[in-house]
Amino acid sequence: MDINTAKSVLQNTFGYADFRHQQAKIISELINGADVFTLMPTGGGKSLCYQIPAIVRDGLGIVVSPLIALMKDQVDALKLQGVKAEFLNSSQDREEQNRVEQLIRSGNVDLLYVAPERLLSDYFLNLIDNITIALFAFDEAHCVSQWGHDFRPEYQQLSIISQRYPDTPKIALTATADMKTRDEIVEVLHLTAAKIFVHSFDRPNLQYRISEQKNSKEQLLKFINTEHNNDAGIVYCLSRKSVEATAQWLSEQGKVALPYHAGLANNIKDNNQQRFLREDGIIIVATIAFGMGIDKPDVRFVAHLNLPKSIEAYYQETGRAGRDGMPANTWLAYGMQDVIKLKQMTSQSNGNEQFKFITQRKIDALLGYCEVCSCRRQVLLNYFGETLAEPCGNCDNCLDPPITWDGTAAARKALSTVYRTGQRFGVGHQIDVLLGKQTPKIIQVNHQQLSTYGIGKEHKAEEWQTVFRQLISMGYLAVEMDYGALKLTEKSRPLLKGEITIQLKVKEYSKAKPARKSKQ
Ligand code: ADP
Ligand code: ZN
Repeated sequence: MDINTAKSVLQNTFGYADFRHQQAKIISELINGADVFTLMPTGGGKSLCYQIPAIVRDGLGIVVSPLIALMKDQVDALKLQGVKAEFLNSSQDREEQNRVEQLIRSGNVDLLYVAPERLLSDYFLNLIDNITIALFAFDEAHCVSQWGHDFRPEYQQLSIISQRYPDTPKIALTATADMKTRDEIVEVLHLTAAKIFVHSFDRPNLQYRISEQKNSKEQLLKFINTEHNNDAGIVYCLSRKSVEATAQWLSEQGKVALPYHAGLANNIKDNNQQRFLREDGIIIVATIAFGMGIDKPDVRFVAHLNLPKSIEAYYQETGRAGRDGMPANTWLAYGMQDVIKLKQMTSQSNGNEQFKFITQRKIDALLGYCEVCSCRRQVLLNYFGETLAEPCGNCDNCLDPPITWDGTAAARKALSTVYRTGQRFGVGHQIDVLLGKQTPKIIQVNHQQLSTYGIGKEHKAEEWQTVFRQLISMGYLAVEMDYGALKLTEKSRPLLKGEITIQLKVKEYSKAKPARKSKQ
């Protein structure tokens, strides 16, 4: 079968003139019965890669997706374009499910969206045993991986599908997968013979910027007012509480800001999402519950008020900006509390040791990215296995290189204080000791007696905060368990002994010029 059939579907059904990037190749491989693994950033156009072959090939195309909440919208949109699409998931009543199953049996469905646990039920497998299957598409395939950021045990069970239907073409799609995750996807889904298509992760129209948290709400407002007045954007917060507080606060400042998190009633969530999609210039303030599968092309900024949990998550979330290819900003404000909180959440989580280890490494990678003084895009792409030869010219570090200072002496004072206080205290107490304060705690544990008491008066408390944050981020200090106590690491010894020096960034290092003037 040749690609022209596919192209006429692209034009007549979907209304697009040409295939993008590697779509044509991927589609023709699938139409001809091969397996495919495609790694493509969000917004790259993954859906057509399986939708068109499912339409062109005989039989039912089965799309496995973990995103039950989006299935109805996806299917409704396809139906509007005249595609015979349906979905099956737990949100439907029995009658509705019967109707869809009847359509499947009579060969009247080209594309079926289904959750993995449904697909894997004996009932459903028996149902599809008796019909022709055009292909299986495993969307968000990184969910198979424990190493990935979105592990779903049901996804691992999908290996059954590859065993049961070895001759049916399969496509695994994901927007986020480091090498380890890629290997796991290939193994679990039996895709060793699959044709692999990797699309560059670079999003040149996105500007990457990271700021130090001071008064994050005020910083956010300034960012919006100076660069994104009347623009649509997403603001991510860590907790539901801060989502609501931030949305309310922005509203009081005259912005149209709507909250979105999993604890809100469905009708409020739906309403806020719809307004964001349909109206201009709406700001959504959300937890990470928002965004999977949201396809709004003209999101002009994504702001993070807290650290995401990994580079993958950061890339995914920032990737929701600028899908139309026009300039867009990503801005993250982070502070030491975030670092400590993320580390504590990891060590206190219920995961096994391996999980904790992985999570910790992922946080460290993100911290490294935040603290880097060179081009951020180079670091980001490098993480995904790509090299960018030249600095990008469109990140804060390129636009306004950070000013560094020789922080060796300060770092040594900080590390000695951690050591002298017995590696049992958090950042606040270390700073109090360095500044020679007389807090009740210092008096209680008699820390005025320490040789490091009061030796750090040349820096203000906020400056010490940034010194400690950078030392933690760079691995010279570890944050322990329950109370956020600081401990020395292997890496700290040579620094303490004066064998190495260290360059630190000055406090406010993110002053990048706006990517563009905001619309008037
Ligand atoms: P992904 O799943 O990779 O995030 P989508 O499949 O949702 O991306 O596609 C992103 C956007 O690009 C959608 O609005 C889609 O309609 C559009 N798109 C995809 N392929 C093409 C194409 N060949 N021509 C024009 N627009 C396309
Ligand atoms: Zn750069």
